[in-house]
Amino acid sequence: MMDKNKLEQQITVDCSFMKELERFGLDKAYDCFNCGTCVAVCPLGADHFPREIIRYAQLGAKGKIIEKAYELWRCLHCGLCIHTCPRGADPGELIMGLRRYMIHLWRKQNHV
Ligand code: SF4
Ligand code: SF4
Repeated sequence: MMDKNKLEQQITVDCSFMKELERFGLDKAYDCFNCGTCVAVCPLGADHFPREIIRYAQLGAKGKIIEKAYELWRCLHCGLCIHTCPRGADPGELIMGLRRYMIHLWRKQNHV
């Protein structure tokens, strides 16, 4: 039987989530092959940012993105990751797309 900590670490996946995110400009997210170059060049020096959050988007892990939404607003949109991504996945723009999605979600929940 799985212990309580492992159960809490499980990620819920929504297969239609990436489709939903395309409307917010995340159509290039599937081009990311998770290499981590963006993490290496990002001046924020934060663990796994922005690679991790892009990976969550690919997986449809909506709950994890909501949980880590505060990280999205740390991005300076400096463009370093955009210029060095070997897949042309435009990680900085993917982060902007996730911001747009979070604002949309917030507006929906607050009926603005
Ligand atoms: S966005 Fe680009 S640089 Fe970052 S992990 Fe994906 S493929 Fe690598
Ligand atoms: S655009 Fe954002 S995620 Fe990309 S390197 Fe700059 S601060 Fe980091």
